[in-house]
Amino acid sequence: MDLTKFEYWFIVGSQDLYGEETLKQVADHARLMADEFNKDPLLPGKIVLKPTALSPSMIRSLFEEANAAPCCAGIITWMHTFSPSKMWIQGLRLNSKPILHLHTQFNRDIPWDSIDMDFMNLNQSAHGDREHGHIYARMRLPRKVVAGFWRDGEVRGSIAVWMRAAAARLEGMNSVVLRLGDNMREVAVTEGDKVEAQVKFGWQVNTWGVGDLAARYARVSNAEAETLAKEYGERYSPAPAANLQAVLEQAKIEIALKQMLEAESAGAFTTTFQDLHGLPQLPGLAVQRLMEQGYGFGGEGDWKQAMLLRAAKVMALGLPGGVSFMEDYTYHFEPGKEAALGAHMLEVCPSIAAGKPRIEVHPLGIGGKAPPARLVFDAAPGPAALVTLIDLGDRFRMIANDIETIPIEHPMPKLPVARALWKPWPNLKSAAESWILAGGTHHAVYATALNAGYFRDWAEMNAIEFVHIGRDTNTERLRDELRWSEAWWSRHGRV
Ligand code: MN
Repeated sequence: MDLTKFEYWFIVGSQDLYGEETLKQVADHARLMADEFNKDPLLPGKIVLKPTALSPSMIRSLFEEANAAPCCAGIITWMHTFSPSKMWIQGLRLNSKPILHLHTQFNRDIPWDSIDMDFMNLNQSAHGDREHGHIYARMRLPRKVVAGFWRDGEVRGSIAVWMRAAAARLEGMNSVVLRLGDNMREVAVTEGDKVEAQVKFGWQVNTWGVGDLAARYARVSNAEAETLAKEYGERYSPAPAANLQAVLEQAKIEIALKQMLEAESAGAFTTTFQDLHGLPQLPGLAVQRLMEQGYGFGGEGDWKQAMLLRAAKVMALGLPGGVSFMEDYTYHFEPGKEAALGAHMLEVCPSIAAGKPRIEVHPLGIGGKAPPARLVFDAAPGPAALVTLIDLGDRFRMIANDIETIPIEHPMPKLPVARALWKPWPNLKSAAESWILAGGTHHAVYATALNAGYFRDWAEMNAIEFVHIGRDTNTERLRDELRWSEAWWSRHGRV
């Protein structure tokens, strides 16, 4: 999978009143901009310039075409001149694609010596984009607004983030999460409305019996498992020879799981340690490997984080850093060194590792199966985002916390799992109070390849609530904001 197949339609607005000469200049400028965008490696996918939008019927047709275009991930609009926005209402009512309103202008500088009214009439974005922005606000439409000069790196960066989020959204429209078993018994936070998830995100959240996986597992030959284990030996520090059998069992689980994922065209999956009938071990190393290959995963049947991780994997394609399933586990409350230790029973993606992961085999205190093989490592230090998706009954809420992963100074020789140690912003106390007030789960997507901005764009285009906990978060103010947002979402939540 790569991002080059995704198209982003560039629709430049104007109107007939300007006359042929001006409209030709508008089209020429738009062509030049689209060509430059397409040469910029920062912007993934393809910018497709459409004819300048001049009339209600033309605008309506453009949006109808976009809706029907399977590779169109989103639409970028920009009003070079003035485009009366009642002309846009029918098109926008029909539109099903994410919108980025690029508020820019062709020239960077005012040509002080030569500027006249002809120039003013041609370069009217400051004026035309206000009319255009009004109609989005009037119609309460989700969109991203990016303002600034179109050659500016920060502007391009904001467009790139949105493009990646839009690619992940479109990919999610055809995505399947393969649930092996249900979610963990009696747990609330991993529950959710799967019908609403499909309505909102397109995700097909369906179940398959773990017995199907066990049957495939039983059919994987020793030779296939040994070949895969050889690859493990090259990529990771191998386990002692005495543990070979446990590693081969995980290799067989990986092969069997991948066969199932491919057979169902699934982008994500879940397992639960309460439903392993017919498998020798809880899938550990196998799950870590599949996450590394781009699949989404959620532990204990957590299909919401599984799909969110898949979306994050798509957004992060080709970017430095990694993304993983993660769980808040334990705190360090030493004054001045407060931190949170994240891990999971086994399933943390090696894309976030600082060094070469080690394959280890240890008993598991839960699940009653054989000791599973897993990859053990410390997460690479640096800025990261911790993001979760919950179902509040009347809507989905995404919560994102900016965090700083720090080096682990103590070896923790008795802790046999991959781990990350981080300081949340604004500090552990406020971040934890805010996260808990917002109802966030212990499960999350942990990303060093992405910051909260990617997830904000993704949430906006899926029309779900987004709660950001960062440097400026004040817990008391956040408590109020959560209550105010009830008013908005009582109108804009479940369809
Ligand atoms: Mn868990």
